[in-house]
Amino acid sequence: MTKPCIICVAITGSLPRKAHNPAVPISVAEQVESTHAAWEAGASIAHCHVRKEDETPSSDPERFARLQ
Ligand SMILES: [Zn+2]
Repeated sequence: MTKPCIICVAITGSLPRKAHNPAVPISVAEQVESTHAAWEAGASIAHCHVRKEDETPSSDPERFARLQ
C-alpha cells in the first residue's frame, strides 16, 4: 500500500546568489525551468522567491506576477 504525500520544493531561497552556487535559479526563466524539472520529478508545490537584477531579494508584486 502506498502512502500519498505532497512534495513541496524550494527551488531558490531568498539569499543564495550565483556566487554561492552557480546552479541556483535566479531569473524567471531559470525558476520556471527548475520548477518544471521538480514537477517532472513529482513535486506539486513550489515555494518561490523573486530577485532584483542584482540578485538581492524583492517583494515586488510585479516581479512575482512575472513568475506565474
Ligand atoms: Zn522561502
